[in-house]
Amino acid sequence: MLRALLLNLSQSQRLARFVMHNGTSRRVVRRFVAGETLDDAVAAVRAQNQAGSPGSFDYLGESVSTEAEARRAADAYRAILDRIAAERLDANASLKLTQLGLDVDAALCENLLSDIVAHAERLNNFVRIDMESSAYTQRTIDLCKRVHAKHASVGTVVQSYLFRTEQDAKDLIAAGIRMRLVKGAYKEPPALAYPKKSDVDANYVRVMKLLLPSGIYHGIATHDPDMIEATKHFATEHEIGKDKFEFQMLYGIRTDLQEQLRREGYRLRVYVPFGSDWFPYFMRRLAERPANLKFFLSNLFRRG
Ligand SMILES: Cc1cc2nc3c(=O)[nH]c(=O)nc-3n(C[C@H](O)[C@H](O)[C@H](O)COP(=O)(O)OP(=O)(O)OC[C@H]3O[C@@H](n4cnc5c(N)ncnc54)[C@H](O)[C@@H]3O)c2cc1C
Repeated sequence: MLRALLLNLSQSQRLARFVMHNGTSRRVVRRFVAGETLDDAVAAVRAQNQAGSPGSFDYLGESVSTEAEARRAADAYRAILDRIAAERLDANASLKLTQLGLDVDAALCENLLSDIVAHAERLNNFVRIDMESSAYTQRTIDLCKRVHAKHASVGTVVQSYLFRTEQDAKDLIAAGIRMRLVKGAYKEPPALAYPKKSDVDANYVRVMKLLLPSGIYHGIATHDPDMIEATKHFATEHEIGKDKFEFQMLYGIRTDLQEQLRREGYRLRVYVPFGSDWFPYFMRRLAERPANLKFFLSNLFRRG
């Protein structure tokens, strides 16, 4: 219930204004967000590279409502890709289609995405389309497939809480598309998604077992030690090398596990969000773990 409440509140403009202008919450947010500028994110990714992890830049923003905002987001992504090349960082980029105007004009969104992916391809890089709520699943997959047919440097995300995901993963494998497997971070109805964690986890393992032997380089994105163990076990059993897939985790979350995987010789990419539009991202992180909410509220009241 708390998760559902927080995910509902992540859409609230009033709460966003309050939280984003509060000094204490800005400090707490820095645990999950690298900063507000590209320089902040570059510094965070460089630190990850020095620790042995590639990064993925996520310029925070979603659900834009004008063409101008969508174009500004696309410019920001081209600038990120240029900066990665100029600074020789080991990193790619992750973006959201609603940030490129999917709700404003689908054709505009497709053109902007196609330009960004072509730019990434010229720079020998890769762009991942994050997966948003189920209202966008089919459109995201369709758009990814269309752009992938022209430029291979694009992949997307599948969410194990959705009933449809096993079939989507099979279709995307058939199209040769790289995937990131996650559990899913949005509020979904029981008609579309498994309500029970045990079912989400079982589906995660089922889909992981489709991805790993596919011969395509996929990302296994989770902080769940059981999912990580299942992946290691399956890879060892099927003689799938540590260079054939990567684990992925979020900036600031389970850094102990991140370090452990690196020590064990696994590839571990860290997803580095930055930008001033951090409210919905932050609320999803609170929803994932009640302890984060407790930490946030205790800081708020201690200072307030
Ligand atoms: C690299 C990456 C990219 C992602 N991209 C997407 C995407 O495109 N679309 C999407 O819907 N979701 C995305 N997610 C989020 C994902 O769907 C889950 O909501 C999130 O990863 C939590 O699930 P979990 O697999 O870590 O397992 P859980 O069962 O939720 O958590 C397992 C353990 O991980 C730790 N943990 C998990 N979350 C947190 C947190 N917020 N703070 C502190 N500890 C935590 C706790 O120790 C917890 O017990 C992404 C996640 C990662 C790692």
